[in-house]
Amino acid sequence: MPIRLLLVVPCYNEEEILQLTNSRLNAYLQELSDAGEISTESKICYVNDGSKDKTWHLIEELSAKNPRILGIKLSKNFGHQNALLAGLFSFKDEYDCYVTIDADLQDDINAIGGMVAKYKEGAAVVYGVRDDRSADSFFKRFSAEAFYKIMQKLGVPVVFNHADFRLIDNQVLNEFEKYNEVNMFIRGVIPTIGFHSEKVYYKRLEREAGESKYPLKKMVVFAWNGITSFSTVPMKIVLWFGIINFFVAVAIGLYVLISKSLGHTVAGWTSIVLPMAFFSGSNMIAIGLIGEYVGKIYQEVKGRPRYIIEKKIGGK
Ligand code: UDP
Ligand code: MG
Repeated sequence: MPIRLLLVVPCYNEEEILQLTNSRLNAYLQELSDAGEISTESKICYVNDGSKDKTWHLIEELSAKNPRILGIKLSKNFGHQNALLAGLFSFKDEYDCYVTIDADLQDDINAIGGMVAKYKEGAAVVYGVRDDRSADSFFKRFSAEAFYKIMQKLGVPVVFNHADFRLIDNQVLNEFEKYNEVNMFIRGVIPTIGFHSEKVYYKRLEREAGESKYPLKKMVVFAWNGITSFSTVPMKIVLWFGIINFFVAVAIGLYVLISKSLGHTVAGWTSIVLPMAFFSGSNMIAIGLIGEYVGKIYQEVKGRPRYIIEKKIGGK
């Protein structure tokens, strides 16, 4: 049976490009279904993430004309990640696999065919990986490179140069739903779910119309959210800093005592500097220690699944 595919497309103020995106995606799905690669029941779902322009109106029009087009309207702007979740979870168990793709045609839609092919070969997750970012500005390339490198160093399991252009199958989607953290960083969570994964490489294209909805400020918030959702390394740094600080304080203390015994000090200096050095060192260790526990609480509160079963055999 040909596979049922759902494309999930988050849209925030995309009126300038939506028609074009839709005609390309629609034509591409038609091609795939004509070739028998996907079922004719495959659909495209646009998630309107609280757009302030005519985006929703356009989605309604498109959907009225074409049964292949579905729409979801969020009550306000919830952000790219949440828009993706809304699109995916609303159609759980209705399709065999799901591809999330941006509305701006920066992700090469021709890679979808490659994703579907990998899915047929047994992959449950297929990451779209940009192997050429020449279309991006120098700053975007540089910041993206730094972002992935820092993430990896801090132990966040991101796939290098992969954003949210990916295919997941229905089983992965069901497991993904169990991750109910509010600050969801999808591209970090998916690799932790496991299952057989593959990559498809593509060239990152330029936005064909409209402008980026990710200004620097949003990008920084996004990156910071990614780090703090996964890594307790920053807290560990505080603890280590405290320990080093403490040893430095002991050295300062010794120096102060020796100076005092040699009579090289003015009155009151020793009694100020000594406790100051000692307490600043021990304070920082205490903060680091508390941080360790806060980190543990944080991991517990997220309540992520402790294991995920892919298959069971035998038995009833
Ligand atoms: N987007 C969204 N909600 C937001 C911001 C962006 O749904 O609050 C959508 C946007 O319409 C696009 C995708 O997320 O389809 C990626 O955004 P954009 O292209 O602006 O990001 P960039 O490619 O510049 O990183
Ligand atoms: Mg974009």
